[in-house]
Amino acid sequence: MHDAPHIREQVSLSELTTIHLGGPARFVASCTNTDECRAALAFARERFLPVMVLGGGSNVVFSDEGFPGLVLRVEIPGLRFDESGRTCRVTVGAGEVWDDVVTACVARGLGGIECLAGIPGTAGATPIQNVGAYGQEVKDTLQTVDALELATGEERRFSGTECGLGYRWSRFKGEDAGRYIVTSVMFRLEEGAQPRIRYPELARAVAQEGSGTLLPSGEPGLNQVRKTVLRLRRSKSMVIDPADPNSRSVGSFFMNPVLSQEKFELLREHWRTSGLAEAIPAYPSPEGIKIPAAWLVEHAGFPKGTRRGKIGISEKHALALVNRGGTTRELIAFAEEIQAGVERMFGIRLSIEPVIVGEKVAT
Ligand SMILES: Cc1cc2nc3c(=O)[nH]c(=O)nc-3n(C[C@H](O)[C@H](O)[C@H](O)COP(=O)(O)OP(=O)(O)OC[C@H]3O[C@@H](n4cnc5c(N)ncnc54)[C@H](O)[C@@H]3O)c2cc1C
Repeated sequence: MHDAPHIREQVSLSELTTIHLGGPARFVASCTNTDECRAALAFARERFLPVMVLGGGSNVVFSDEGFPGLVLRVEIPGLRFDESGRTCRVTVGAGEVWDDVVTACVARGLGGIECLAGIPGTAGATPIQNVGAYGQEVKDTLQTVDALELATGEERRFSGTECGLGYRWSRFKGEDAGRYIVTSVMFRLEEGAQPRIRYPELARAVAQEGSGTLLPSGEPGLNQVRKTVLRLRRSKSMVIDPADPNSRSVGSFFMNPVLSQEKFELLREHWRTSGLAEAIPAYPSPEGIKIPAAWLVEHAGFPKGTRRGKIGISEKHALALVNRGGTTRELIAFAEEIQAGVERMFGIRLSIEPVIVGEKVAT
């Protein structure tokens, strides 16, 4: 049949997620174009099945019971460059591997997403939580998102502004969660751009690479920044590597809390009067004062490498919870223990970053 997606039955979700957790999905449909997405939705509708949209599975945790419906995997390909003067519109199929997109853009001298190298998953998922790293976010360059509404099968285009992008947030995670399938995204990148290095850790690492890797102008090039980001990420197990057990994660499990100035002052005062010498690290952001969740977790008594059975904190990064052969239930129990510990110590409730499917979690 034309435009019929490939549908498999009883597929282990642990194989489709980077943290390798989750029982079986009743059905998994691999969709390589919008018509296949529509056909998969019709298949689910005829059987009264719930639908869950999935990309690379790097920000999702499924329950041990699995998913009793249809997992619609977006595998839509496509990468097109439309140059116009000093800018280039890059249109990307939602199923493209994000890191490959970054590599291809940097190779063409297009700047704007070079710091987002190594983030796992697909291009279509990048607007969902406005992915970001090392001072860059897709919000900076995203122009449009094309999407298909699950309920109606109708296509809709959102401008970047309409996506409501914020810190690890968008309308697709908020009021429109589960409503759309992103089918393609378009970025506006700059030709021959200088890399943007806003993050002190990245600036130091680039400087350490040495002058041999600089452009003739003495400036670091886009590709140097991309490679340095990958090196930094690898050192923290923040790129997926089957040989690295610390990378069996969903990346950061908790978001950095953002406080008002007033609340932050209260927290700082409380911390100071507790007789603790070290100051709480804090960074101003457009949303408020951002506190590194990793620091809170470690100072609440959960250092890197802490384990609970076959679940633990990565040995390389205090925010990554790692599966070492455990279960989703154990993972959630440990996450709740960390949330409670941080709340007891700092009065701050950490929010969970990944999407948890089929398990109740207090966010
Ligand atoms: C080691 C590691 C490091 C990470 N580092 C970072 C980082 O530095 N910065 C950062 O922001 N994130 C990071 N992440 C999180 C993750 O990689 C991103 O959120 C990524 O964009 C998820 O892409 P995905 O295709 O795997 O999405 P999935 O995990 O498959 O899905 C995530 C959510 O998006 C939805 N979704 C996915 N695709 C679509 C689509 N086409 N249409 C509609 N909804 C869709 C899903 O329904 C789900 O709700 C990291 C993860 C890991 C494992």
